[in-house]
Amino acid sequence: MGDSTLLVHCHVFDGSGADVRRDQDVLVRDGKIAGVGPSGSAAAPDGAAVIDLAGSYVMAGLFNMHTHFSLALPGPLGDSIWAMSPHELALYVADGARQTLLSGVTSVRCVGESDHVEFALRAAIEAGRAEGPRIHSAGRALVCTGGHGHESSSTLECDGPDEFVRGTRAQIRAGADLIKVMISGGIAGVNETMGTIPLRPGELEAVIGTAHAWGRKVTAHAGPARILEQALELGLDCVEHGYQLTEEVAQQMRDRGTAFVPTLSVTRCRDFFDALGVPAWMQERSLAAAPGHENSYRLALEAGVPVMLGSDIPPFWQTEGTTATVRELEHMEAFGLSPRDALQAATRVPAAWLGTDQDVGSVEAGKRADLIAMKADPTESVSALRTLHWVMKDGYVYRDDAWVR
Ligand SMILES: [Zn+2]
Repeated sequence: MGDSTLLVHCHVFDGSGADVRRDQDVLVRDGKIAGVGPSGSAAAPDGAAVIDLAGSYVMAGLFNMHTHFSLALPGPLGDSIWAMSPHELALYVADGARQTLLSGVTSVRCVGESDHVEFALRAAIEAGRAEGPRIHSAGRALVCTGGHGHESSSTLECDGPDEFVRGTRAQIRAGADLIKVMISGGIAGVNETMGTIPLRPGELEAVIGTAHAWGRKVTAHAGPARILEQALELGLDCVEHGYQLTEEVAQQMRDRGTAFVPTLSVTRCRDFFDALGVPAWMQERSLAAAPGHENSYRLALEAGVPVMLGSDIPPFWQTEGTTATVRELEHMEAFGLSPRDALQAATRVPAAWLGTDQDVGSVEAGKRADLIAMKADPTESVSALRTLHWVMKDGYVYRDDAWVR
């Protein structure tokens, strides 16, 4: 027998698509969910801690599939991050990881971090020296010379197929679980537009072929449909942003099972940009893209493309009365996803994409006890996540607002 905790009086959304089961107890043992059953149906094991969640709604911890702990956009705050020494940056990302976990995000997918800092962060979290979510990372994003994001060490400039092969292998050597490649321009670039297509076909093929040979999936920062058609043919596994999808590309994604992380927040986050002091040209470019971005997302939903929650903005960032993670999920719901499908986009779908659905992403016996609790019913609306007040990861309680009342 190891450490046991019995969570009593919870309404459980297990993530399987089944209805919320009311008045349940959840037994957690050795960091895993040992069982879920009606309240009072099983006595607490000897020595078990009992936590009364008093009618809260319990579900699996959230996944944020598009994060950058070391994000530094143009503007004063970004400049201060760029100026950090490696020691300062390590402490900065550790703080972000802790705040991310406390906001209910128990798994993240990093898609471009400065100087591989996230691998040190991941090792520290796994060793118990730092607090944070489970980290899956692409390492540095691959980009051509002068391409999207080339200004920072969160990317690696490569030119020609050989360098892209080497760049891919270098990320894997550093510990990457997946590969990210910039196949179009974006919002935060002076020399590009969202429609810029910077790579040659051979370069893209080099990245995808090499990554797949090593058993790593590839995700791409991508705007225009034209480049996506080629990338999907080559076996691209996921699309980030997708500002300019077409019906044809959406159907191609659906047919190939390619996932989509729309990051809707990045074209509707004026207060975040204001807080960072992001220059006006970038704000205008971003906010002007919002209608097309929404249209792309709706096309993807209509086609049946698997969508996943990713905020791009730091997961814990307070915006419009909640965190960037919850706000992103609200956008996904507002533009056409049902609350239940939105919850799946934040849990099961990403767990499956990452290949970790045996361990996380739902509330079932045998899974790791990554759980969150909130006062309102998230299957009514994902805005219920605004009432989140309790976070467990691996069976350990990291947040319980009752303690600070
Ligand atoms: Zn990003």
